[in-house]
Amino acid sequence: MYIAYNRDGKICNAIDEEISKSEDYFCPLCKCKLVFKRGRKIQSHFAHFKSSECSFTNYKKESKEHLNVKKILYQHFKNKYDKVFVEYIFKTDDSLQIADVYLANNNIAFEYQRSVIPFLDIKKRTLGYEKANIKLIWLIDINKFVKELNVNNNIVYIKYAPFVDNFLNYHKGCIFFYGFDREKNEIVFYQLWSHNLKKHSAVCKKRSCKLENFDIPISFPLFKNNYVTKLYANDIENYVYVQLKFDKTVKNKLLSKLYNERISLNNIPNCLGINVQEQLLFRTPLLMWQLEMYSLFKKNKTYSEIFNYISNYIEFNDSIYIKNKDKQHILEKVINWYYNILLKK
Ligand SMILES: [Zn+2]
Repeated sequence: MYIAYNRDGKICNAIDEEISKSEDYFCPLCKCKLVFKRGRKIQSHFAHFKSSECSFTNYKKESKEHLNVKKILYQHFKNKYDKVFVEYIFKTDDSLQIADVYLANNNIAFEYQRSVIPFLDIKKRTLGYEKANIKLIWLIDINKFVKELNVNNNIVYIKYAPFVDNFLNYHKGCIFFYGFDREKNEIVFYQLWSHNLKKHSAVCKKRSCKLENFDIPISFPLFKNNYVTKLYANDIENYVYVQLKFDKTVKNKLLSKLYNERISLNNIPNCLGINVQEQLLFRTPLLMWQLEMYSLFKKNKTYSEIFNYISNYIEFNDSIYIKNKDKQHILEKVINWYYNILLKK
């Protein structure tokens, strides 16, 4: 960490000031004594002793990379604006929280995340910002969490870590997340569409901005085009075979469902496996809920019966950005869309 109190209660900032090694320093959160580490390869900083149980070290693994990104974000904004803080401490209802970088005049904070932490911790921190009425942008470490497989004309095929699910935004029917590229020093913005039946795989429009050109408000335009990949019968067949590799028993849910519907693998109806963008937000596999809905439809269930069942059947991934109200809209949109497909076929 970069911020500590000295014995007189004065705030010391290890990025901007000369820190004397002979003084004592204390953590602003837990008040424990800290060690000062004068860096050669990395920026000088304060650190807790190993035994510490401070919430600061619990939720922010202070790697060299994390310290460095925090520093360059801070310095970038400090050169542009007044009242820019690194490790800004603010109060929520019941506790203190620390923002990586906070721009007071714009009332916006940036959190850089590169360690995998439990969803509930991310959610708690996000709610802390909401309560304090501070706008928050999470920048995830894309060098760690995103793998670009193929780039073609600004269209990028990516695989991403399950942790990224937590940070997917859904706004005006578009899905996206923000990140930071440590190697290129860029803020990056990925807008996503569903690709194949594999989880955490997407087609993207990627936009990036060199940190030196980055400014507030953030303006990455959303694309209205639909880049969702169309799935073919053999994609679905392959997917089922992949599932079989993991589980050959009768307990294989997908297989038993296909069997119950008297669907053989070489004769999958073309209304099954129709890709939809919102699938990126679901934990329930595409084929599972579509099969479920197909089967209800064939039993002549009414739309509202189908809706009630399927809206409970589809589970969402954990996400800090998608509120229950939005989830309801997403379910209405997707179930209605698929119902119309079943009607036509
Ligand atoms: Zn502490």
